[in-house]
Amino acid sequence: MTQMTDLAGKTGLILGIANAESIAYGCAKAFRAAGADLAVTYLNAKAEPHVRPLAEALDSPLILPCDVTDDAQLQAVFDGIRARWGRLDFVLHSIAFAPRQDLHGRLADTSRPGFLKAMDISCHSFIRCARLAEPLMDRGGALMTVTFYGSARVVDGYSVMGPVKAALEASVRYLADDLAPRRIRVHAISPGPIRTRAASGIRAFDRLIEESVADTPDHRLVTIDEVGDVAAFLASPAARAMTGTTEYVDAGLHLTD
Ligand code: NAD
Repeated sequence: MTQMTDLAGKTGLILGIANAESIAYGCAKAFRAAGADLAVTYLNAKAEPHVRPLAEALDSPLILPCDVTDDAQLQAVFDGIRARWGRLDFVLHSIAFAPRQDLHGRLADTSRPGFLKAMDISCHSFIRCARLAEPLMDRGGALMTVTFYGSARVVDGYSVMGPVKAALEASVRYLADDLAPRRIRVHAISPGPIRTRAASGIRAFDRLIEESVADTPDHRLVTIDEVGDVAAFLASPAARAMTGTTEYVDAGLHLTD
């Protein structure tokens, strides 16, 4: 990890750690190494034993359950942050879900419930986080989510997640406009393909990895630590003149056809 950023005295919320391979964990390590205190959530009781040891290694004082489809749980996370810190500096939302049958089929065949579920968990939950974080970000702040270039290009096997990520990136732009008066910045981070649990649900992901290595200008994949370095920069005051952006952390993959 390359340490370039100072987040000492800052507090952040991390949603989306499933295990040590998660992009959210790469980001959380970078935030912590830069000095931030972190609240960490886990999806449910099944996920907790995998997430808790990682959160403890990050010295997290708040380790809370959060399925974003449960409004009461999401509210309880922000209530817990208010009770512990009284305020918040940044949020990393690194969550996506689509029902398998919809993800594996053609977009043309996507069911309405599947589309709505994917959009709710992967996009609208970020908007809900923004609304709940806003009153806690009394000194400004940064909201970050994680997207993929399947939003702008047709990537074989990405299906319903393409339009969902396009909506997420558009939401970043509109939230950036809504929240600018409170000096809250909003960013999407767009990594190249990384082997994670969520990625293993994408049909033909192995081929996507092979093609990415072939197409990327210096023929390599990116790591969760590299994504973390960019997230830590975006959380820091060094990024104060940036908002509404989609930042590619893909070693140039988005430049290629
Ligand atoms: P991951 O499986 O480690 O993380 C996905 C997370 O989403 C998990 O922690 C899971 O618990 C969480 N999640 C799913 N449904 C949820 C719900 N209802 N409530 C709360 N949390 C829920 O995989 P990852 O690759 O680190 O994914 C993180 C983000 O990165 C996703 O938005 C994904 O689309 C994005 N992304 C991944 C890649 C890649 O190649 N891995 C590339 C670009 C973008």
